[in-house]
Amino acid sequence: MTGRSYLGARRPGLCEVRVREGGGSRQLPLRLDLVRHSPTGFEWGYGGSGPAQLALAILADASGDSELALRFYQRFKREVVARLKPSGWELPADFVLGWLEAERRMLAEHGAGLHGGRFDSACPACSEGGDPPMGGAC
Ligand SMILES: [Zn+2]
Repeated sequence: MTGRSYLGARRPGLCEVRVREGGGSRQLPLRLDLVRHSPTGFEWGYGGSGPAQLALAILADASGDSELALRFYQRFKREVVARLKPSGWELPADFVLGWLEAERRMLAEHGAGLHGGRFDSACPACSEGGDPPMGGAC
């Protein structure tokens, strides 16, 4: 348990995302150093460039691992950020880390051929058209 939490609030002309932790809070950095999807800021509730920037920033902050964030943020955008409530939301870091862990487990199962050569839409490798699992085409 990290106790860390991400909070999105929509204000006039601005989508603000803060990281709350240990009684204080700070602004979530855009991480334009990793990918420049949206220099103008975060967005959520659909799948565009602002939501992509937010997905990347949250994964990078929660995991502390830029490479991991870059590997999974497009899926995180589609599965989580695109579904956030437009008016505002809160996302615990533990949820984010749990989501990442499930993705990694699914990738490992894919690599080990554990979904038996069948396409599994929950699997990152299958849905990205990556290498087929052993024993059959994805
Ligand atoms: Zn797979």
